[in-house]
Amino acid sequence: MSINWPTTTLETWSTEPLGVKNPKTWAHFHSYGGWGRFFQGLQQRKLLATRCSNPNCGEKRLWLPPRCQCPDCWHDMDWVEAPQIGNVFTWSVIKYPGELFKLPADTPLISVELEGVCTKLMSWLKEGRPQIGMKVKAVFNTERPTNSILDLAWAPA
Ligand SMILES: [Zn+2]
Repeated sequence: MSINWPTTTLETWSTEPLGVKNPKTWAHFHSYGGWGRFFQGLQQRKLLATRCSNPNCGEKRLWLPPRCQCPDCWHDMDWVEAPQIGNVFTWSVIKYPGELFKLPADTPLISVELEGVCTKLMSWLKEGRPQIGMKVKAVFNTERPTNSILDLAWAPA
């Protein structure tokens, strides 16, 4: 099984911070704020996480999705590349996909466990059938990016 990338592209209106135009019957402009770098990283085939930059903070875990401030000491975070191979922690399927990006019904949603990352990353499986514990690798939509989280997907590793 292989699922095509979404065909809708969110037009950008700024790069710092990354802002996208999300077409509706009206245009809604919003900013990704401190998380823009994560979405820009996807276009460079990078999976960017954050880690606390406070040398006195005992927590040096990676957070993905990234956090702008350390949840333990509220200090600013540093951006670091996360591993791009992980394991399926659990999975489900999309029965009623949203209208904008038109992922097909029954697209597998997966929760990905990455070494050194203290959170699970919810995403989707672009190829193959999901299984708990399955090794997966990150794949990036760089040809016609949507400028959304759907530009990241996973495939069997
Ligand atoms: Zn901290």
